[in-house]
Amino acid sequence: MGGNVLFIQMTWVVAAILFIFGLKLLGSAGTARKGNLMSAVGMLLAIVAALLQQGLEFQWILIGFVVGGLIGAAAARLVQMTAMPEMVALFNGFGGMASLLVGWAALGGAGNTFTLVTIVLSILIGGLTFTGSLIAYGKLSETIGSGAVTFGGQQIVNSLIVLGILASAVMFCLQPENHTWLYVVVGLSLLFGIMAVIPIGGADMPVVISLLNSYSGLAACAAGFAINNNILIVAGALVGASGIILTQIMCKAMNRSLSNVLFSGFGSAAKDTTTVEGEIKPLSVDDAFYILEAATSVAIVPGYGMAVAQAQHAVKELCELLESNGAEVNFGIHPVAGRMPGHMNVLLAEADVPYDQLLEMDDINPRMETVDVAIVIGANDVVNPAAREVESSPIYGMPVINVDKARTVFVLKRSMASGFAGIENPLFYKENTRMIFGDAKETLNGLIREFS
Ligand code: NDP
Repeated sequence: MGGNVLFIQMTWVVAAILFIFGLKLLGSAGTARKGNLMSAVGMLLAIVAALLQQGLEFQWILIGFVVGGLIGAAAARLVQMTAMPEMVALFNGFGGMASLLVGWAALGGAGNTFTLVTIVLSILIGGLTFTGSLIAYGKLSETIGSGAVTFGGQQIVNSLIVLGILASAVMFCLQPENHTWLYVVVGLSLLFGIMAVIPIGGADMPVVISLLNSYSGLAACAAGFAINNNILIVAGALVGASGIILTQIMCKAMNRSLSNVLFSGFGSAAKDTTTVEGEIKPLSVDDAFYILEAATSVAIVPGYGMAVAQAQHAVKELCELLESNGAEVNFGIHPVAGRMPGHMNVLLAEADVPYDQLLEMDDINPRMETVDVAIVIGANDVVNPAAREVESSPIYGMPVINVDKARTVFVLKRSMASGFAGIENPLFYKENTRMIFGDAKETLNGLIREFS
């Protein structure tokens, strides 16, 4: 038995090391696949060791493992790249639900107050992560309206729910044999997940997904304490901490504080009052070609529309043609461009765009004034100068890529429709902006044909 325990503990140490190195490798697009694989192997080891430790008969677990694995693999294969954030939201939610169930199942063995507290925490955080993530999923996939839902006294109602959760959690810990209090905790936590996420909308959703991801980790960590499973504690803590760091980075990228994101209701507190001046100047692909042919410095700024159009390979081809024509080409990547962190990096890596050509916002902005043509490919919010110029704009203060400082700006999009944040973009009306309407991939292919 002693040898067995040592083997299990050693396997967990190895799994934890694989998680940590896996996370490290995820830090760059070049090594991310390897990192993912490493973490997956770590997870497999952790599961096998956990099953051995319990000494259970695991035929049912094995069936669950196979069914769950198949669903996960199919979902990952079938999901459109643009629908990835929704899937992440859903998976976070399932993680929360799993922790809720683990916490609940641990009730039978709960002896001391510490275990009771960890059980309540895993149920509470798991429950609110579950419903919060479902709402986030609905908003992102636009199954429900993606805007902020606010009403008078909302924060008072939410505060009362939190107080209710705390009071019933304390009551349960004092009288653990009375499960009624626990049911109240479960019900109120599920309700709170909904209430906490409905007032958040528009461009703030990425922050919420990242925060819910962190919560799912914290719930798992609490569940790990509840069932005394070291590797669950380690894995949960890693997810919790990395989620909160990412949340912080995204808040910074949008120049918002976390409390402002959580409590102010994007787009509801500040109505978009941006007024635009000037007129739209559409440009044909032929004319765009002549301007590009003469350019010696080009900055490409991709956004969500590049993902929709699946234009990354065409972008790469145009980039090569421009370079062989003597132009210097760089890409400007905004931290929240697209619909998930790193969305643009992943797509451009798929098309083999060299990493050193991808410049972060802070690196490309100082060069913008020397750029002949900035080509905006399906980006909107992340290049909106209202963030600098219009104090009443809901995105005022959010750092954006200053494409309007380039000599000429091409905007490739299909219509005058707004972006994710649903607000007006004065860039389209600026003197140096030319709109090239149409699907981004078709426009790029048109330009490629002209060059070759
Ligand atoms: P936006 O959502 O602001 O704009 C995308 C633009 O792409 C639209 O205006 C659309 O215009 C255009 N577009 C769509 N399809 C095509 C197509 N086939 N060809 C050409 N253009 C197309 O995208 P950004 O990347 O600029 O900004 C991201 C937004 O998403 C931010 O508000 C961010 O906060 C939010 N967000 C980010 C997440 C993240 O983690 N990165 C997650 C969730 C939300 P048209 O319809 O006229 O073609």
